Amino acid sequence: MIEGLPVLDAHIHLDPAGAPADAVKRFISAGGTHLLVVHKPYGNIPEVNIDNIERAFLTTVRMAELTRKTGAGAWCVIGPYPGLLPSLAERMGLEGAEELQMRALDLAFRFVDEGRALGIGEIGRVHFPVAPEIQSACDRLLVHAFREAGKRNCPVVLHTESPGANSALFEHLAGLAESTGVRRERVIKHYSGWESADPGMSRGFSVSMQARRKNLEEALSRHFTFLLETDYIDDPARPNVVMPPDTVPKKIAWCYRRELLDRELHEKLMVELPGRVLGIDTTS
Ligand SMILES: [Zn+2]
Repeated sequence: MIEGLPVLDAHIHLDPAGAPADAVKRFISAGGTHLLVVHKPYGNIPEVNIDNIERAFLTTVRMAELTRKTGAGAWCVIGPYPGLLPSLAERMGLEGAEELQMRALDLAFRFVDEGRALGIGEIGRVHFPVAPEIQSACDRLLVHAFREAGKRNCPVVLHTESPGANSALFEHLAGLAESTGVRRERVIKHYSGWESADPGMSRGFSVSMQARRKNLEEALSRHFTFLLETDYIDDPARPNVVMPPDTVPKKIAWCYRRELLDRELHEKLMVELPGRVLGIDTTS
């Protein structure tokens, strides 16, 4: 049903300690064609100094290469994970932690300049309750990232607290993006529900929506546009978390069976939008 059509998972993690090639094979077998491989902190490379961070970034670059060798199109985004900031702050003080993640951002942009990474991610704010000083540090890192991404017009994948049912989070992000030169369309709020795909909610930011049936039904019936993701983490201790790696192609096929999707809309979601938002070509 979806054979020969592009199917992108816009947010997947692959880990050498997991089974990355198997995950990619499962994705391809179900009809998937392209992956955006997102950096994650790897268990054996603590990101506590810039040398380790570089090694960790290189691991993500390698995971995208492995994906291409396995037969799917792939790009990667890299950057300092915001969830690490609280423990780094405990270890080296908040100032030192912020400085380290700032250097990590600059390193990530160097990878972008060298063509080794497509963009930056996942970066942003801490998703669990923390001291306000920590979120302020996150915001300063974000402003820096938005400014540098604006100069290069490269995509930025955001990890933040859940926006819930109102647009306060997006308003806050819009405030940070203001006058940095970044185009909001190229900033992607990952781990989104269908509510965030509402243009009235997302304030011009792009969203990557979890590939759940409810999300697809609600968003498609309202003619929202979105990227789709699994956020698979490739952790052998937590198999198939957040969603199994073959979920996006399976859910796309399900959408056709339910007549929620036709070729024209498919093209919009899987070719036009990835082209505009991520700057990628999913047709080859
Ligand atoms: Zn993720």
